[in-house]
Amino acid sequence: MSENDPVQRIYLSPPELSGNELEMLAAVLDGGWIAPVGPDLDAFEAELAMVSGRQYAVAVSSGTAALHLLLHALGVTAGDEVLVPSLTFIATANAVRYCGARPVFVDSEDSTWCVDPDLLLGELERRSRAGRLPAAVITVDLYGQVARAEQLVNRCRELGVPLIEDAAEAIGADRLGRAAGSFGDAGAFSFNGNKLITTSGGGAVVTDDELLAMRVRHLATQAREPVLHYEHNEVGFNYRLSNLLAAVGRAQLSTLADRIERRRSNNRWYRSLFASTPGVSVMPDHPEGNPINWLTCIQVDDAVAGFSAGDVIGVLAADDIEARPVWKPMHLQPVFAGSELVAVSRDAVVSERLFARGVCLPSGRLGVDGRDRIERALRPLIGQVSASR
Ligand SMILES: *Cc1c(COP(=O)(O)O)cnc(C)c1O
Repeated sequence: MSENDPVQRIYLSPPELSGNELEMLAAVLDGGWIAPVGPDLDAFEAELAMVSGRQYAVAVSSGTAALHLLLHALGVTAGDEVLVPSLTFIATANAVRYCGARPVFVDSEDSTWCVDPDLLLGELERRSRAGRLPAAVITVDLYGQVARAEQLVNRCRELGVPLIEDAAEAIGADRLGRAAGSFGDAGAFSFNGNKLITTSGGGAVVTDDELLAMRVRHLATQAREPVLHYEHNEVGFNYRLSNLLAAVGRAQLSTLADRIERRRSNNRWYRSLFASTPGVSVMPDHPEGNPINWLTCIQVDDAVAGFSAGDVIGVLAADDIEARPVWKPMHLQPVFAGSELVAVSRDAVVSERLFARGVCLPSGRLGVDGRDRIERALRPLIGQVSASR
């Protein structure tokens, strides 16, 4: 792919090579470690623990698998309820369903777009009084920004409710000096092709709880007992990441800082691009955190802007530039019809407004030419502006 080719499609978040993937893969093949165990898997896990400020990491086959294993290991089972942000990718809620449990959706806040912590705390208190505590709580670090989870972490610990941080979109971000993945009992990462770090498909669990890490590792390998014959005391899963893909992950991770800087630079550019367009606002970077801006997203208030989120997606699509609405809230998904939503007001659901007005913009390696094309495509909507590149 050449970024100066003007007919090239511009993707939302395409996978990006670090340059040393082939070399690291060749080393694995030379060593014969084409296996679900091996030195690169161990090293990748050690590096992931470092990045997230955790003691332990377990690399698995996807972010979804990481969430499923965690919920299962933390005892979530049929008939349970789990509090989950409504504004997220469906994997978060699906993992709850894999355990036979029911997701109860909680609305977002405007300052981070992540789950509203006050709303969630209030729901926990209400349920605590009613003797109906959820089996777990999941927070999601949306589009590269860590959720305001510190109070939730404390309250969940007091109440004995496990808290999982879905940090699939936020590896390398931090909040109040604490890394994405370090909030609560455990964090989950994704290395899917559209994420900041990719192994084509993959994920990880990170935690400080040694027993939890061991349990997740055990469940991810068919719950096989450490004996010569094949002995199993419970139903496990085949969810481990292969050593080959771990090598790709290590190559990717070696350029994490550059990747983050590229996303942040895109975000700054978009901010200047839209700075003088009334009715358009970029997703806020909360001052207490350092988001990685995995995707830059905007909100378009059509009554003020004179054009809609759909118009933005349309003019970009006309020039073969990919843009998408923000995640459709889970409580609006047909598959979760009839599920419960916790919101401040049913008439002003934040996640519904973000879905109606939100657009995710191309956030990968854009280059000067990519930025030019995006700016030219948007010009009819946002007028004559010249963003500093
Ligand atoms: C991508 C993503 C996941 C799932 O990751 P996969 O590796 O695709 O299974 C989970 N949660 C969120 C918020 C995500 O964006």
